[in-house]
Amino acid sequence: MSVANGGPLATTSGGMKPVQIAQVKGNSRENRTAAHSHIKGLGLRSDGRADTNAQGFIGQVAAREVGVVVDLIRAKKMAGRAVLLAGGPGTGKTALALAVSQELGTKVPFCPIVASEVYSTEVKKTEALMENFRRAIGLRVHETKEVYEGEKLRLDPSIYEAIQKERVRVGDVIYIEANTGAVKRVGRSDAFATEFDLEAEEYVPVPKGEVHKKKQVVQDVTLHDLDIANARPQGGQDVMSMMGQLMKPRKTEITDKLRAEINKVVNKYIDQGVAELVPGVLFIDEVHMLDLECFTYLNRALESSISPIVILASNRGSTTIRGTDNLVSAHGVPPDLLNRLLIIPTHPYSANEIRSIVATRARLEYSSAAPPSLQADKPGAAQGLVQTTQLADESLDLLTKHGERVSLRYAIQLLAPSAILSRCRGSDNNIVTAQDVNEAVDLFWDAGRSASVLREQGTSTSFIS
Ligand code: ATP
Repeated sequence: MSVANGGPLATTSGGMKPVQIAQVKGNSRENRTAAHSHIKGLGLRSDGRADTNAQGFIGQVAAREVGVVVDLIRAKKMAGRAVLLAGGPGTGKTALALAVSQELGTKVPFCPIVASEVYSTEVKKTEALMENFRRAIGLRVHETKEVYEGEKLRLDPSIYEAIQKERVRVGDVIYIEANTGAVKRVGRSDAFATEFDLEAEEYVPVPKGEVHKKKQVVQDVTLHDLDIANARPQGGQDVMSMMGQLMKPRKTEITDKLRAEINKVVNKYIDQGVAELVPGVLFIDEVHMLDLECFTYLNRALESSISPIVILASNRGSTTIRGTDNLVSAHGVPPDLLNRLLIIPTHPYSANEIRSIVATRARLEYSSAAPPSLQADKPGAAQGLVQTTQLADESLDLLTKHGERVSLRYAIQLLAPSAILSRCRGSDNNIVTAQDVNEAVDLFWDAGRSASVLREQGTSTSFIS
């Protein structure tokens, strides 16, 4: 039997709280990458050249040869350096950064942020940057836990729920997936008969007078997950006190001291071969929104021995560096940081490329079934025979035009509302027509149209007259 709920791994020096891996949640930022779910890698051949259409990537061939950076990362030649992707909106900068992380491995953390996110009234901007640096550094922990006679182990509430759902019985051997907490029954074992006292939210290995070794558990966490887990107000680990913490959450404070302690323990695990560091990718979009203080922090952070791969992106040319007295620099990045950057331009797409990308996204987004509320009155709905939505050729042409006129991103964003409008119209064959796309365009203006309407109305600064 193996459990993910491993309890304290070690106690830090100086009487600090133990470093916990238990209850560490995985990276919850997946929703940010949903728009790129068709991207599976950079689509490079073995000679490092990009295929025009591979692994979900279409066109942008020169920029995809950013794959060289992947080689530099693997050869550990990127220390102190970063990448800057420079190009217009919707030219695939985020997609490229994601693909770099995919090329580095499946469990490599990818942390995408927009530079303006670091500004808040609650958290210092350098603190916010540090937090994201640590979100982008993974730790793969190989844990083997031994269970002794009579030892009582408390279960994480989610695992407890899963055990109930699986109807695990005494003597079942279960495998608990480290990241998701999913429980699988893998058989029965006399050697490790276990009694589940589900009422008490704990299980008790049957006393046998032996040490039972569990399977090795590999758990992928980020340094930020560890910071959070160890800064969490400590109390009982039982369901009631955890629920109490949810009802009146206390602000988590992650201090520099705590991070230093965690780094110390992490380094110890690495030395002992219990864990390995997995540097991921920190993607900072609209980097020109950072100010001088943030850039100074970035410069220093890049020098650190534990640093993720930093990929910056900007769609600005020369612009003022925030936080300076009108000092203008390329992409709003100070010259000392610019000198450390590998700058890769991204270019606007041709009509054919836009068409292919929109068609790829449409296939993916429309392959999932419509919401049941919109399907209920369709013929065949009761038998679950409702067809998936399809994009008519004329609609693809129209979306391509909008992609050329506004941006690829705008064209892709029109896909979902067009499909909903098609269903609301009662389209029997589930085909999104030009009429649906036109309606979606009328409902959702692009930025240029919005600005020009405001100009015409003479309300360039406010809607309120
Ligand atoms: P912004 O500057 O507005 O942040 P961006 O340059 O980061 O834009 P993305 O968000 O990467 O652009 O691209 C917009 C959409 O188009 C995403 O869904 C992305 O996956 C898709 N896309 C962009 N380029 C390509 C490409 N070459 N092949 C396939 N899909 C692409």
